[in-house]
Amino acid sequence: MQLFTKRIDVREEDIFSELHHFLLRKNNRYLTNDEVVEITGVSFELLYKWVKSGKLKKSIFPNLGAPCERCGQITQAKICVSCSSTIVNTLKQEEKDRAWYNQIQPNNVRASTYHYK
Ligand SMILES: [Zn+2]
Repeated sequence: MQLFTKRIDVREEDIFSELHHFLLRKNNRYLTNDEVVEITGVSFELLYKWVKSGKLKKSIFPNLGAPCERCGQITQAKICVSCSSTIVNTLKQEEKDRAWYNQIQPNNVRASTYHYK
């Protein structure tokens, strides 16, 4: 089955409504990106755009995804799990570094004064 991809006069909204209609059919809800592109002929570009904008809801189409904004891996969220954990870890590390820095500041002064007593 091919959607309107061979036609150039078709509007994006029309492709979307056709695709949406197709996906809402029994069992089509669970198709993956690759399957949807293969079956319908819709481009990955449009598919990603609709997933990202929330037109194709992840709650309804659990197997559709869009590239992670950081590494490009297909994911259900804006940023994939590994990138979001990297970001969280970086933030945690920064917090630790700051805490450590604040901690050693006064201690250093005290330590050096102690030495020269
Ligand atoms: Zn990522």
